[in-house]
Amino acid sequence: MREVYLDNSATTRVFPETAQLMNRIYLEEYGNPSSMHHKGVEAEKQLRQAKQTLAGILKVKPSNLYFTSCGTESDNIAIIGGALAAQRNGKHIITTPVEHPAVLESMKYLEQEGFEITYIPVDGCGRVDPEEVAAAVRPDTVLVSIMHTNNEIGALQPITEIGEKIKKKNPKVLFHVDAVQGFGKALIHPRQQHIDLLAASGHKIHAPKGVGLLYVADGVKLRNLIFGGGQQNGLRSGTENVAGAAGMALSAQKLYEKLDVELDTLYDMKQFFIEQVTQIDGVRVNGLPETGADGKALSLSEAVRMTAPHVISLSFENVRAEVLLHALEDKGIFVSAGSACASNRPHISATLQAIKLPENLLDSTIRFSTGVMNTMEDMQYTADALKEIVPFLRRYTRH
Ligand code: PLP
Repeated sequence: MREVYLDNSATTRVFPETAQLMNRIYLEEYGNPSSMHHKGVEAEKQLRQAKQTLAGILKVKPSNLYFTSCGTESDNIAIIGGALAAQRNGKHIITTPVEHPAVLESMKYLEQEGFEITYIPVDGCGRVDPEEVAAAVRPDTVLVSIMHTNNEIGALQPITEIGEKIKKKNPKVLFHVDAVQGFGKALIHPRQQHIDLLAASGHKIHAPKGVGLLYVADGVKLRNLIFGGGQQNGLRSGTENVAGAAGMALSAQKLYEKLDVELDTLYDMKQFFIEQVTQIDGVRVNGLPETGADGKALSLSEAVRMTAPHVISLSFENVRAEVLLHALEDKGIFVSAGSACASNRPHISATLQAIKLPENLLDSTIRFSTGVMNTMEDMQYTADALKEIVPFLRRYTRH
């Protein structure tokens, strides 16, 4: 049976070249980068090279980059470490209700520590208005955290505009961007985009699980959350995951080398898939804008290109997401119900609620997330499967 993996926002398959490089590091260049002998120097060189490659992609200095264990850890260090270090300036933070739990749960923790959190509402496509974010900035605001790309519906936030506006209102405010879903799919240049803290994750970009990246701009102070041997300037003690870091850098390099071409393919696949599945009755595409900034109606191609290239969120009337997920699985197609990247139990998604998805569709939403390993044939196969399965399942659903 054909296997079609459309859960790339949950995690990705490691590039073979990345696995090969990591294997070599595990078996041959396995030293501790802090060791003074040759094996250590070799490992340290791998780490240094990885930072250089990633710094080149982000157009920052290697010394601004830290390796962590995952996107969640990068978000936690940035948000909690940033807020605690800045609390003498105030205890107000701004974010959105559509952030990943790595951000929302960090906010909850800070709330217990006496911080006040303002959640800026999103529009029907999951986007915040930069004016509204800036208007919420106060003299005691210490941190603004807005994600680059939403993991459930693929909404893209106007990061550069938000950065510009919040800094104008209060230059001391730290701007944190969760770019776990955006890194590898978009050009991200923190210095030009007024970003102070940025989180990315290896396993979303065809590198392994267990490695994350944190960018910290010059001059930004973070309260230390991890204590130990003082690695990585003491911000993130613990022996570095050398193979993971090298793997993340190689995978990122491969993605960014051909970014334009890959983006075109991903957008073409997204558009084709939407054209196909909307031929089925009672299918709603979530997060797709209908009109542009000028209020004019958008073509499907224009609308699709205003969203993330790889996330397609569809709600199927009178179909339970979990049942559809397993019916697709029977055909070798792997997807997520809503967003299952935080747990393997489907849950009522905060993002779907925030975009005011009708109540009856909350439990009928599937996320298809593509990647550079997918093909147009995968999308055709999946669309054909849906055309067969959805009417079939509806016959067995009581209305
Ligand atoms: N932020 C976003 C937007 C995500 O999609 C995810 C994972 O799904 C994370 C953070 C957490 O990343 P990690 O799985 O590497 O901890």
